[in-house]
Amino acid sequence: MYCSVILRGAIRQTDNLYTYRVPEELRADTYAGSLVSVPFGKGDSKKTAVVVDVMEEFNGDARYIKDIDSLLSKTPVLNPDQLELIEKVSERFNCTRGDVVELMVPSCVVNHRNPVELFAELVSREKAEEVLQSEKLRSAAHINILEYLLERGKCTKKELMASISCSSAQINSLEKKGLITLVKESSDAEEPQLAISNDIPEGKFTEEYDLSDEQKDAVNEILKGIDSKKDNTYLLFGITGSGKTEVYLNIAKKVISEGGSVIYMVPEISLTPQTINWIKGRLGDSCAVLHSRLTDKQRYEQWNNIRTGKARVIVGPRSGVFAPTVNLRLIILDEEHDGSYKAESHPRYSARDIARMRAKITGCSVVLGSATPSVESFYAAQAGAYKLLELKNRARSEATLPEIIPVDMKEQIKLGSGDMLSLPLRQAMSVAFSENKQVILLLNRRGFSRTLVCEDCGEPYTCKNCSVAMTLHNNRRNGTQSLICHYCGYTVPSYEARCSFCNSNHFKKAGFGTQQLEEFLHSVFPHEKVLRMDQDSTMTPGAHKEIIEKFAAKEASILIGTQMIAKGLDFPDVTVVGVLGADLMLASSSFKASERAFQLITQAAGRAGRGEHPGKVFIQSFRPEQPLLQFACTQNYRAFYEQEIEYRQKLKLPPYKALGEIVLSLSDEETLIKRANEVASYLKAFLGFQDPKYQFEIYGPMPCVIYELRGRYRMSFVIKAVNKSAINGVFKRLIADFDHMKYPMSFDNDPQDG
Ligand code: ADP
Ligand code: ZN
Ligand code: ZN
Repeated sequence: MYCSVILRGAIRQTDNLYTYRVPEELRADTYAGSLVSVPFGKGDSKKTAVVVDVMEEFNGDARYIKDIDSLLSKTPVLNPDQLELIEKVSERFNCTRGDVVELMVPSCVVNHRNPVELFAELVSREKAEEVLQSEKLRSAAHINILEYLLERGKCTKKELMASISCSSAQINSLEKKGLITLVKESSDAEEPQLAISNDIPEGKFTEEYDLSDEQKDAVNEILKGIDSKKDNTYLLFGITGSGKTEVYLNIAKKVISEGGSVIYMVPEISLTPQTINWIKGRLGDSCAVLHSRLTDKQRYEQWNNIRTGKARVIVGPRSGVFAPTVNLRLIILDEEHDGSYKAESHPRYSARDIARMRAKITGCSVVLGSATPSVESFYAAQAGAYKLLELKNRARSEATLPEIIPVDMKEQIKLGSGDMLSLPLRQAMSVAFSENKQVILLLNRRGFSRTLVCEDCGEPYTCKNCSVAMTLHNNRRNGTQSLICHYCGYTVPSYEARCSFCNSNHFKKAGFGTQQLEEFLHSVFPHEKVLRMDQDSTMTPGAHKEIIEKFAAKEASILIGTQMIAKGLDFPDVTVVGVLGADLMLASSSFKASERAFQLITQAAGRAGRGEHPGKVFIQSFRPEQPLLQFACTQNYRAFYEQEIEYRQKLKLPPYKALGEIVLSLSDEETLIKRANEVASYLKAFLGFQDPKYQFEIYGPMPCVIYELRGRYRMSFVIKAVNKSAINGVFKRLIADFDHMKYPMSFDNDPQDG
């Protein structure tokens, strides 16, 4: 008996099907989908692999065929539908089949039999601090490692490598320097960071409702689709608070009662104890929850429950889409527009696309839910590719939609309020506090630090071709600064920049930070307690949860934060929400800036008035009359969509054309520029020969928005083409024709951020 295998985590050179002989004693237990250890290469080093096919005979020269070493799991780790998915995912996302196997068979499964891990620990905190201060360390990776360990304490070497993208050698070299130690320990000893209690609080979490008519229609329609076994995709478009969760829970319950399984994905940030309790409270023990705070051992248990069919509802972030479910009938993506469904490191897969691919293979249905669907999904629904289901009313009759109030910050500054908190917002806050209510202030700052706004009129400086914010770059060679568009490469020397609205030539860096806001709040409301949720305050594990619990327990009356706070949280006592710096959301350098801003404002507004008390939402802007903010104020998704789809069509952006991004990164700047130009000439020549039907356009090379990252300089190219497979075709040529060591490139056929 023989079998062919894929090596888990294979690189391109080893991403082949390899044939092995199955020794007598293993034959009874070896199937397609089995996890095995095999001797590989000249030195016969041991590799982990997955069996994709089993055959009785081998038609070649069997003398060179090696035996598999052992079975790493008594039952197969992959189901037939997953095996079928491997090839498709690797094609679509330009990764190896071995990469896909790695996503499907997480390390907790491979390590299960040997749960001993290597931990890294500082030899002494004082010494580490001293070395950091003395600036003796030259390597950015070394600095990052020490800082990470100072911040978090002891952690596994794997976690360290994954979190700061350093290499094993870099960690080892710090051990040689005597700054850290590496010790082998059993990861079983790890205390769980977050134990989800089994005794779920009664009441809210278990309560079942009589469905509204809208909810009933949606449930029935989806159940019909599930029965038909025809990979239907539904877009459940329902305003915030319309009871989408209730729809998911009802269909999930039906599916599991008939012996099917459900994958229920939520953005990682919503995997709070609140959501988990809610789902567990209703669906009980048949749930497996996969979140980032699980230890390897807990993760393995969950995974094993899924594989054996003990767990029927798999709740998790994007990686949940690869779960080894038994009899998969339904995949749900809650908040389908959320950016976290797209992986931002290799392989850059989109869980939404993979859900659809899995549906094609298994005949299960996909439900995408959102109050603010992504433009691509709504377009697909309009075109009839998805079935559109609408919930137009809030589920609880007493919960009214919040009043949304635009505030003109130009006037406010004239009135002396400063640029952080307008007078109407301050007044509403005072009223809320006097009634023992709470306030959320949203300040989104992601990706704005390098964009400029006009000092006189507050407008962001945007590209004349693409209407996205241009980003400021230092040109180190001659000490000048330029503004560069990340999509078309258009460049303006900063001294030539003029505001397109008022012709001013004074610009400043956009925005203020959460910490500044916190200090300001202390001076305006000295008696109120403030909680801050942003990247800095949630660095330590569990911090995010702690902040939410404190706010829910009303230990503070104000919660300020970045986009993290806008999603999925349910605080009945919040009556006022402030969206600060709404213009800056639009000043992001991504073509999705408007979409993101609309989504964020809607989600944030959805936090107000969830209980019996009506809510007020203040949107502070320098140009409150601009259409997007008007649409956000009236919560008019369709009007927003019409405007946005017109812009996408005009500029040939998704969904009209596919976008691809290639990033070349090297530690030496001169070499980078030279090689980027070589790639550019190659691309221009190659694309010049292509059939016009592919509609290729190429831009670049241009510096990435974040030009320096972890000690490397980065240049990018943007390609537009008729569809993703045309883009993938170009990526494949580059992969084949360029030496990856000399030209380290990353490829993305669905870039989200500028
Ligand atoms: P969405 O996910 O659409 O924002 P939720 O599912 O969070 O909305 O529902 C909003 C609120 O309405 C929740 O508190 C939920 O318990 C409640 N709810 C949902 N469906 C019903 C119903 N049919 N009757 C009464 N309350 C409901
Ligand atoms: Zn201006
Ligand atoms: Zn441009």
